[in-house]
Amino acid sequence: MSHHFVHDVLVIGSGAAGLSLALRLDPALRIAILAKSELSEGNTRYAQGGISAVLDPADSVEEHVQDTLEAGAGLCRPEAVRYAVGHAAEQIRWLQSLGMQFTPRPGHADECHLTREGGHSHRRIAHATDATGRALEDTLIHAVQARDNITVFANHIAVDLITAAKLGQSPQHILGAYVLDRDSGHVQVFHARSVVLATGGASKVYLYTSNPDVSTGDGIAMAWRAGCRTANMEFIQFHPTYLYHPKAKSFLLSEALRGEGARLLLPDGSSFMQKFDPRGELAPRDIVARAIDHEMKRLGADHLYLDISFKPAEFILEHFPNIYQRCLAFGFDMTKEPLPIVPAAHYTCGGVSTDLHGRTDIRGLYAIGETACTGLHGANRLASNSLLECLVFGEAAARDINGLWRAWSIAGELPDWDESRVTDSDEQVVVSHNWDELRRFMWDYVGIVRTTKRLQRAQRRVDLLAHEIDEYYSNFRISNDLIELRNLVQAADLIVRSALRRTESRGLHYTLDYPETDDSQPPRETILTPPNY
Ligand SMILES: Cc1cc2nc3c(=O)[nH]c(=O)nc-3n(C[C@H](O)[C@H](O)[C@H](O)COP(=O)(O)OP(=O)(O)OC[C@H]3O[C@@H](n4cnc5c(N)ncnc54)[C@H](O)[C@@H]3O)c2cc1C
Repeated sequence: MSHHFVHDVLVIGSGAAGLSLALRLDPALRIAILAKSELSEGNTRYAQGGISAVLDPADSVEEHVQDTLEAGAGLCRPEAVRYAVGHAAEQIRWLQSLGMQFTPRPGHADECHLTREGGHSHRRIAHATDATGRALEDTLIHAVQARDNITVFANHIAVDLITAAKLGQSPQHILGAYVLDRDSGHVQVFHARSVVLATGGASKVYLYTSNPDVSTGDGIAMAWRAGCRTANMEFIQFHPTYLYHPKAKSFLLSEALRGEGARLLLPDGSSFMQKFDPRGELAPRDIVARAIDHEMKRLGADHLYLDISFKPAEFILEHFPNIYQRCLAFGFDMTKEPLPIVPAAHYTCGGVSTDLHGRTDIRGLYAIGETACTGLHGANRLASNSLLECLVFGEAAARDINGLWRAWSIAGELPDWDESRVTDSDEQVVVSHNWDELRRFMWDYVGIVRTTKRLQRAQRRVDLLAHEIDEYYSNFRISNDLIELRNLVQAADLIVRSALRRTESRGLHYTLDYPETDDSQPPRETILTPPNY
């Protein structure tokens, strides 16, 4: 028999989006937060650069809006951009009120030091040295732990959402979720008036990624299966500068390095970015990633280089203490030599389609942070706008729930999970094989530069894997790996199908078959609608 938990709000995910939302919910609400591994593990913790906000009097909200729209290549929803950018400065103040320490401007302890990143026309990135995500996550966890209306469930992975439609009831609304307790191996039933998907992105679908293991697109896949539409899943941002070293799993070299003058170099030491864009190293990430991809393929090189060693060592140590230490641990002294780099899958611009309140297509079900597509990023994310999105839309969704929860009831009875299925001894090898296969063909066929033929090839493989995994899923006892693989395959399917629908190159989607942006008609989002919508 499954164990049943009853809360007002179930928040799936403990990154910047989930935690900040929970803190902004009415303290009268009983809230559960799930994290599928440790509480602090997720993309948020690895963010280095910072959070974008207009804090310099010489800067303006309008310019931040324009930079965001320009990066988004015609596909941003302007109302989402204005909303997020217009509420940015207050997010920084809110975090400061929780005790977060931003790096101060030299000589002005009460002002934030601001860095500049690619695509931004001003210095507007508030940061905590080069480990902003860690400071942010620590601050939010500390605040959540001080709340007695919030219960945290680490090592609990949500398997699927429970909706009225699934139980044959109407009107459609959210009822809760099935959740695997990874320690006990049992599936529990969580009842809630409202469920918030804050599960981060899906970059683990690719072989090389800057994301930690938890980024397997679970929220996007669960929402899709429950009947929600997705938007713009073809737009995957590849970070241009990921440390090239077999052991440097998920280690990024922040864009702030280029913001402070670091140069990209070919193996012969010559620079090349000016050939691709007049903004050079500060061009938006897609242009930089494509330029690197192009030069690597042209030269048959495994990697290129990023060099900041010409700056004084004290400057590097002061601005990039963590990056310096990590690189040193891998044998590279960035004060003395260029660092080897390759691009890696970094950010999922698309996701569950939401409105400005984070509402999805199902009443009471919200999606926020990297899981959602609010329209802020369009066809390409402007650097450091994503933590901002987590905070702004986390707050917007919390406000919406605070106004509505009294009208929503909690389901008294929900069916138990069928625990009678057995473990198959063959399962583990099939899961790990399929996992490797998926990530490799996604890298090779659905990466930085695409073609229709490669996408079709990927689609055929995704279909095969989906079929195989469905069979496993229906017959055998579920495990963490099986849940993640099932979700990765679902996310891959949405990425490939969205990419095939876009017969032009725009923002992060670049295909050799349609290398130009189609300006003959207004830009359109790629909305996919599930059969049970
Ligand atoms: C290396 C790196 C550097 C970055 N630098 C920056 C930066 O400088 N500025 C910026 O704005 N953005 C940056 N980003 C992007 C930004 O960090 C993310 O977009 C953002 O942190 C996403 O937050 P989130 O709350 O949506 O998800 P995450 O922080 O990824 O959290 C996801 C949470 O969901 C949980 N979860 C997932 N699936 C399940 C499930 N099935 N059941 C239960 N729990 C689940 C995870 O355990 C985790 O707690 C960076 C990203 C990376 C990887």
